Amino acid sequence: DFRIEKCKTKVYPDELPNTSVVIVFHNEAWSTLLRTVYSVINRSPHYLLSEVILVDDASERDFLKLTLENYVKNLEVPVKIIRMEERSGLIRARLRGAAASKGQVITFLDAHCECTVGWLEPLLARIKEDRKTVVCPIIDVISDDTFEYMAGSDMTYGGFNWKLNFRWYPVPQREMDRRKGDRTLPVRTPTMAGGLFSIDRNYFEEIGTYDAGMDIWGGENLEMSFRIWQCGGSLEIVTCSHVGHVFRKATPYTFPGGTGHVINKNNRRLAEVWMDEFKDFFYIISPGVVKVDYGDVSVRKTLRENLKCKPFSWYLENIYPDSQIPRRYYSLGEIRNVETNQCLDNMGRKENEKVGIFNCHGMGGNQVFSYTADKEIRTDDLCLDVSRLNGPVIMLKCHHMRGNQLWEYDAERLTLRHVNSNQCLDEPSEEDKMVPTMQDCSGSRSQQWLLRNMTLGA
Ligand code: UDP
Ligand code: MN
Repeated sequence: DFRIEKCKTKVYPDELPNTSVVIVFHNEAWSTLLRTVYSVINRSPHYLLSEVILVDDASERDFLKLTLENYVKNLEVPVKIIRMEERSGLIRARLRGAAASKGQVITFLDAHCECTVGWLEPLLARIKEDRKTVVCPIIDVISDDTFEYMAGSDMTYGGFNWKLNFRWYPVPQREMDRRKGDRTLPVRTPTMAGGLFSIDRNYFEEIGTYDAGMDIWGGENLEMSFRIWQCGGSLEIVTCSHVGHVFRKATPYTFPGGTGHVINKNNRRLAEVWMDEFKDFFYIISPGVVKVDYGDVSVRKTLRENLKCKPFSWYLENIYPDSQIPRRYYSLGEIRNVETNQCLDNMGRKENEKVGIFNCHGMGGNQVFSYTADKEIRTDDLCLDVSRLNGPVIMLKCHHMRGNQLWEYDAERLTLRHVNSNQCLDEPSEEDKMVPTMQDCSGSRSQQWLLRNMTLGA
């Protein structure tokens, strides 16, 4: 039982909607799959379980065929196995499972989870309160070495970076304040990890299920997150519900067509349909993706219109103001030195390293920075930071606290003045030609910078 004490004594209504549990898998191991199924059966009140549906996404392992079929016949809760005719990916497999399910709520789980004591009631109770709330448990970590269970944190929530990678970030103060410090209350989260969540069946249909044009894996979690928020629903982490998940280092499956290609395609569909002009952040930092064919998204765009969904700017402003993508910004593109004609370049883009300077290549990627309305100079989640007089200029995680990450751009003098030190960003010194320096502001050409706005033809 991994709940905090206050959760253990919470009382939920007797009349809760029941749920189907849909578990899709491709080449899952026997032990982890059965651990998932047994934990669902053993840790859920059976009157709340409509059925368990296993969707086999064309696995190649023999024991997942007849052996599995015979095994699940003897379990206490009906377990149905559906087979995809061909490898389809988790998105279309989940759609198939959802279509076959009968419960009032659909609960999706990965095939390598462990549901813990009391996991289900708080999820269903929240949906009963508000059927347009999509709920996730706290996802605890099951070690992929020892398979031991380790409680996760209720202090992180879901976000994403410019490359559209899902990331966990600390729950911001505004959300703590909204819950008045009550850790048993759900956390409103900008995005979900995607593998584990419950949703009212009818709402799942109304809101447009999944984008069936997405393949294999990736992007569908952000697609659903943006869609829920922009189209009038909400997404929450119900902190009294704990489910463990094996975070594995390698996948037991291939990505037909190549991992990069599949994920880029899915992410392009997501960006094109939901992100409006903010898709530029994604395209500029990973310029290769604009060449990827993403198929036809007109059906999804129509869905967005029919549901009268709000723009992405609304989402950034109201749901995710601490996003890595700034809601308002002055520039997005290269930062070029007038004297040397070289560009800021974060080279290997590593945290805690000096920002570099290099010949401008105009290709985005490592040479993309945004000067934001909050006066940070950032690339993705890293900000230019100076903590001592005369530098160095380091790339640090953006903290939104101004402090050492506050820069004043003078559009006439073209200077970038670091407010705390009152010094200006300058060209490299003789000793190290690879990094810019901080100097007293002098008005010299070496302290002049052009902040360019770049767009990549999509
Ligand atoms: N999955 C699937 N078909 C695929 C890829 C994945 O059915 O082509 C299943 C997989 O077995 C798992 C779920 O989808 O149950 C999520 O995939 P995975 O666990 O690999 O994603 P991760 O948790 O690593 O993000
Ligand atoms: Mn998984």
